[in-house]
Amino acid sequence: MEIAIIAHDGKKAEMVQFLNEQAEILHRKEITLVATGTTGSKVEKAGFEVHKLFSGPMGGDAQIATRVAEGLCQMVIFFRDPLEKHPHEPDIFMLMRICDVYDVPLATNPATATMLLKGVGAE
Ligand code: PGA
Repeated sequence: MEIAIIAHDGKKAEMVQFLNEQAEILHRKEITLVATGTTGSKVEKAGFEVHKLFSGPMGGDAQIATRVAEGLCQMVIFFRDPLEKHPHEPDIFMLMRICDVYDVPLATNPATATMLLKGVGAE
């Protein structure tokens, strides 16, 4: 199962905390992680193997949307910062739309992401 991780700058610290809390599930061998560029560097620093794509503003969210559409990515954890403006807003909405088109689970905050991973852990 491929899980995509994206965190806006204001949410990167929360994202690392989330990874550490969920390390047991996320380190399972059947789970692979992909992430946008800067998020991916932080994921690596936290001790996880991750395939890094472009940074979000440079098309990373669009790359993840493509993976969802192609059936390569089965879950998106997207810690959005609702209090900031983002130059790649159209890509952000496009990714969320594509998740809905393909019925792929999408969490946009840590509380929802925790619930989703409980579902993975129960499988
Ligand atoms: P980043 O991109 O991981 O490269 O910071 C995330 C985003 O802004 O969508």
